[in-house]
Amino acid sequence: MKPAHYVGGAFLAEEPGAETFALLDPCDGSERGRVPEAARETVDAAVRAARGALEGAWGATGDTGRAAALRRIADGVEARFEEFVDAETADTGKPRELAATVDVPRAAGNFRAYADLLYGRPERAYTTEIPGWSAGAGGRALNYTVRRPLGVVAVVSPWNLPLLLLTWKVAPALAAGNAVVAKPSEETPSTATLLASVIDEAGLPAGAFNLVHGHGAGAAGEFLTGHPGVDAIAFTGESATGAAIMRNAADHVTPVSFELGGKNPALVFADADLAGAVDGTARSSFTHSGQICLCTERVYVQRPVFEEFVAALGERARALAGYGPMISAEHRDKVLSYYRLAREEGAAVVAGGGAPRFGDARDGGFYVEPTVLTGLPETARTVREEIFGPVCHVAPFDTEEEAVRLANDSPYGLAATLWTTDLSRAHRVAPRVRTGIVWVNCWNLRDLRTPFGGVKASGIGREGGEYSLDFFSEPVNICVQI
Ligand code: NAD
Repeated sequence: MKPAHYVGGAFLAEEPGAETFALLDPCDGSERGRVPEAARETVDAAVRAARGALEGAWGATGDTGRAAALRRIADGVEARFEEFVDAETADTGKPRELAATVDVPRAAGNFRAYADLLYGRPERAYTTEIPGWSAGAGGRALNYTVRRPLGVVAVVSPWNLPLLLLTWKVAPALAAGNAVVAKPSEETPSTATLLASVIDEAGLPAGAFNLVHGHGAGAAGEFLTGHPGVDAIAFTGESATGAAIMRNAADHVTPVSFELGGKNPALVFADADLAGAVDGTARSSFTHSGQICLCTERVYVQRPVFEEFVAALGERARALAGYGPMISAEHRDKVLSYYRLAREEGAAVVAGGGAPRFGDARDGGFYVEPTVLTGLPETARTVREEIFGPVCHVAPFDTEEEAVRLANDSPYGLAATLWTTDLSRAHRVAPRVRTGIVWVNCWNLRDLRTPFGGVKASGIGREGGEYSLDFFSEPVNICVQI
């Protein structure tokens, strides 16, 4: 499907002379098509359409109706499963199997999960006797709390898991009764367009979901997140972009939910199942060529098993085949610049460290080698900055105390992974690691009801299950004197 804006329940026809930009195939660098760049007026129209939906049919749709709508969307995604897998694979270059087993099933799952969650949500009710510590006259009252949607919600999403992360926010936003204006990454507009088509077929009232394409800074993303008609912003992307959006949103005091960058540590203790730790770290560092916010880029290994671990991980990196490219030439160049910087900073390159040569069309694509580094000080930029490629730096540690300190010595705090067979150690260390998520002897094992998000520069707020519904709605207390 050709990328198009979807506003007020209809795909907008391409206006002659309207601005477009090229969509490139990351596997060979060729142009796959053109994407319309939303002008400010298009973003205005989308926000107006969303407001209209809230004041009209969508605003009048109750929990049951919204849950049914979400289930129809989930069914629609599944009915066009192959089309979604094709579009996701074409936009990102990721292995088809990844799209077919993670991205697309999770997209349908996101809609189903929030349809289920809409039922049986306990509301809070308080005592009818106002206790002595209350201010005012006291007496008897019934206080109860209802939840109200925030209104028009802007959803701005990145290119790495385009469909999964878009639906991760759109589903709870709609479930809670909001109207949505979404802007996917300019690199990956295709699955978002398909989703608009599925939502259209699912028969949601016009304006409940709107989609605009375009760039971020100085363009559609900025027009949307600074828009006075937007009541909340849910954003996933780089920390620096989050900061820019926050500045832009500050004028209207618009609430934000941010899922941002990371520099995720893995701690491998000498008592770990070493084969499991190597396997897990190969997955956590190299899945989707390292382009998942949860990927490990800093590995700390207890000294007795350090050499063995590094040798095994290096071997795994060299043996990787069938991995996908970086999303763009620009991102490939950024990752390669870190491979060069690592050498300048004094790293030993255990595996990779460059761009592969295939001798076929892929040489026009945006590939980099899976890379394992050692030997850098903790002050090195390679160890401190998010690279977002298939690369990790491995350093030794001696004590548990030191491991915790190293893990926490980062401006980021998204996810950490612990590898140990000592149960007490796992429970002792996990709460001390300053990240929003800690995995023990696993990685990216997700229950959609659990809180998801980061601390420090990795985000603001939590999404997932009830946490998302909490962000996308506001509690209103009603006090009835009785
Ligand atoms: P990005 O910040 O460059 O772009 C994300 C989105 O923001 C895009 O749609 C872009 O057009 C838009 N945008 C850019 N500048 C903007 C501005 N000034 N105003 C409004 N919108 C703007 O991120 P990316 O490169 O697409 O994605 C990779 C980043 O996302 C990495 O840092 C990664 O760690 C992070 N990420 C985090 C999570 C998480 O859950 N914490 C998940 C996935 C990715």
